[in-house]
Amino acid sequence: MTEINTLTVLQAHQLLKTRKVSSVELTRAFIDRIEKIDPLILAMVTQTPDTALKQADEADRRIAGGDIQPLTGIPVIIKDLICTKGIRTTCSSRMLENFVPPYDATVVERLKAGGMVLLGKSNMDEFAMGSSNENSAFFTTRNPWDLSRVPGGSSGGSAASVAAGEALYSIGTDTGGSIRMPASFCNIVGLKPTYGRVSRYGAVAYASSLDQIGPLTRDVSDAALVLSAIAGFDDKDSTSSINEVPEYIQGLNGDIRGLKIGVPKEYFVTGMQPDVKIVIEAAIKKLEELGAIVDTDVSLPSTPAALAVYYILGPCEASANLARYDGVRYGYSFKNSQNIVEVTEKSRQYGFGPEVKRRVMLGTYALSAGYYDAYYLKAQKVRTLICNEFSRAFEKYDVLVAPTSPGVPFKIGEKIDDPVSMYLTDVCTLPVNIAGIPAVSVPGGFSQGLPVGLQIMARPFDEQTLLNVAYAYEQATQYYKKLAPLAVDQPGNGSNKPG
Ligand code: GLN
Repeated sequence: MTEINTLTVLQAHQLLKTRKVSSVELTRAFIDRIEKIDPLILAMVTQTPDTALKQADEADRRIAGGDIQPLTGIPVIIKDLICTKGIRTTCSSRMLENFVPPYDATVVERLKAGGMVLLGKSNMDEFAMGSSNENSAFFTTRNPWDLSRVPGGSSGGSAASVAAGEALYSIGTDTGGSIRMPASFCNIVGLKPTYGRVSRYGAVAYASSLDQIGPLTRDVSDAALVLSAIAGFDDKDSTSSINEVPEYIQGLNGDIRGLKIGVPKEYFVTGMQPDVKIVIEAAIKKLEELGAIVDTDVSLPSTPAALAVYYILGPCEASANLARYDGVRYGYSFKNSQNIVEVTEKSRQYGFGPEVKRRVMLGTYALSAGYYDAYYLKAQKVRTLICNEFSRAFEKYDVLVAPTSPGVPFKIGEKIDDPVSMYLTDVCTLPVNIAGIPAVSVPGGFSQGLPVGLQIMARPFDEQTLLNVAYAYEQATQYYKKLAPLAVDQPGNGSNKPG
């Protein structure tokens, strides 16, 4: 029997389908593992073992009745900004520390309909603002590859939990890189779908024109399976697309012969770690060996402006979205106030952490009279330039490849006092959100024994090609099979077999 820490969703599905293991057995094994491993990596804000076992039991009954879908009975951990009915959803913020949503996000509804087993909710940077998990109001998740390093962010808990074998997959969100960057830091697959591919209903809003939900998985086939399960039109999200959702896994054949790949040179930024560059160059060579036609002389000249555009538009949208936390309707409310103004002021003062406040202030400033034209409007215009450059590039190339991050996972505490150096870790992921296109980070290789992610970007709604290129690379290299030291079976490491 396969060890649960190396198991993929697809393999677990086969085991469930052939009744080699039950969902309850599988779930128990993960609950035990979480108990042993999570005190070391701190990936979870809330654990829901009772819910998980109840759902596993229901899944087993469903399976016994011959009704099994790809995710039926499969244990998952969900980022703590996606609403789960009756289960605390904190956004890793004091503001929502005791918030229990009265409804499920559409993604959760869909997973439930498919027989979800929810192990709990994962830690993140507060309101998804950050790249390291250090902005969580509760604690910092550790990287299972090196506990003194960050797992990336903001979906750091989601990535670390999958990399450490605490769940078979996780759901995260990506506004500027929050799925891809932690996936890269933890040697797993992180997919940011096209804007509108997955309904955002029930995901707590950070920057609504950029936010998107997606899977974090051990391999590309699992990402394909999860995307098919969660994507599709939803009348509760007016930006969700009516485009049909393919069975992405059927389209994975690993054949990329003749495929045109562009490598935009602006992604090899100054300050990029030299050995990360070496890994990415080797990855590009590998794609060429696999038969793709690679052009390494592509230019997307507005790319360097993406960081500034994101850090204007993101905070502007955040300042509007977070205005709802007034200490009155829901969330944290400061008690001993004299009047309504004080309630709001004090609730926001104590409810929000420093990075959230920084962004609300930046956004409010950039939207204020006299500055709107200089900042917000200008950023929107540059956004159009970035979108146009991508459109032109995709007339010539099927996909673009680049690093996911210019560096390997950094040390906890290394960048937290320097917001700009923290923001710079996102330079390679932000343009994708600005343009609304899909992108994936796939295990690309290693530098100093730490994971490096290869980023692949594609045309809007062409997740199929995107995943197939990732699949070709993954199958040729097998880097995803190398496990984080913490995930490797050792006595006391939570090694478990289901059943
Ligand atoms: N790290 C980026 C930020 O700090 C992106 C966050 C995200 O994608 N949610 O905003």
